[in-house]
Amino acid sequence: MFESFKKEIIRIAKGSRKIDDGLKYSFLIALLAVIHLFFSVFYYYFNVLTLVLYNLASGIFYFTLYKVFVKKKKYFQLMNVMLVEILFFASSSTLLLGWDFGYMVYFLALVPVMFYLLFTNPRFYGNLKLPVAYSILICVIFILVKEISYYTTPPYGQYIPESVVPVMYIFNSILVFLFEAFFSLLFVFEILHMQNALRAQNTRLDTLANLDPLTQLFNRRSMEQHLNHTMDIAKTNGTVFSVIIADIDDFKKVNDTYGHDFGDKVLSNVSHILKSQMRDEDYVCRWGGEEFLLLIHANKEIAKAVSERIRSEVEKSIVTDSSTSLSVTMTFGVMDYIPGCSIEKLIALADKNLYKGKRNGKNQVVA
Ligand code: GH3
Ligand code: MG
Ligand code: MG
Repeated sequence: MFESFKKEIIRIAKGSRKIDDGLKYSFLIALLAVIHLFFSVFYYYFNVLTLVLYNLASGIFYFTLYKVFVKKKKYFQLMNVMLVEILFFASSSTLLLGWDFGYMVYFLALVPVMFYLLFTNPRFYGNLKLPVAYSILICVIFILVKEISYYTTPPYGQYIPESVVPVMYIFNSILVFLFEAFFSLLFVFEILHMQNALRAQNTRLDTLANLDPLTQLFNRRSMEQHLNHTMDIAKTNGTVFSVIIADIDDFKKVNDTYGHDFGDKVLSNVSHILKSQMRDEDYVCRWGGEEFLLLIHANKEIAKAVSERIRSEVEKSIVTDSSTSLSVTMTFGVMDYIPGCSIEKLIALADKNLYKGKRNGKNQVVA
């Protein structure tokens, strides 16, 4: 029990536990119920029976609120009921006991907590009118209570020894201070959780934006970024790299003969071979329809050897479905980076080699 509670607290503090309305209102209800029950014991000690009964009833009232509102997720109604109760509690306690008891600090605690609760409620998200209107109402009641208490004598003030009054004032102030600090922390954790969720979402979207859905290889957009980055490093550090354009031979015929779905299967199979034959630091993308672009961090000779290895693997592999068994071939155009050459030019040169290969009978590597 304690262990799982501890785990939950750690998750909240790390921002991995969502602070939903259920959690927030459960905390609020528990805190307020405990405060009321504490006051009922306190006034019992000083024999102020009305306040004992009032606080006892309020404490029990909060437990029923949990059943009526939290379980049914009626949070806005719950907030209003609690607001009325706290306003009534602070006003009546101030008027019955006196201003010096410090019950008016509860008015001040209401404003930020109410802003927080409304701001994070999706129904009122971005709507500032309501919390501002509520704040004005709280302020008006605060001033009214102050004025009334100035002109009236609190009937129960006399039951409490004078020496206890400043203690009550400090006690109420500390309680409200802790209450505010607690909800400020909760708000911070809630924002932390939102940031974490957004970051994770961004990472997911980023991955999706860089991937080709059919082959799960990087897409052209991603490769362009990677090429620019590699080019920048080559310019400053003088490193070498090569590009390879690989194109499936007579792919149109595959589609025309066996259907588009089988063509897709061939594309996936070739992509799988490409991925498995490349080192982690190298990069492969689906450049277009049945064309792939490979970026190899090595010179032309090594890029040529990589191409030859992939060519042979593709030629050997067989794609099957219930009625068809087929092996395809690929042609490769290789070009290494020449200092001063643009990326477009580099790819155009690799493309030129690819077409040389196509003209010479396909299923070969031209460097
Ligand atoms: P070559 O040997 O000269 O490269 O001939 P080819 O038939 O492979 O080349 P061509 O450019 O004439 O045809 C490419 C075909 O690739 C045409 C197009 O319908 C097909 N294709 C492009 N994208 C996809 C895809 O996502 N799935 C499938 N099944 N086919 C695709
Ligand atoms: Mg082709
Ligand atoms: Mg093509």
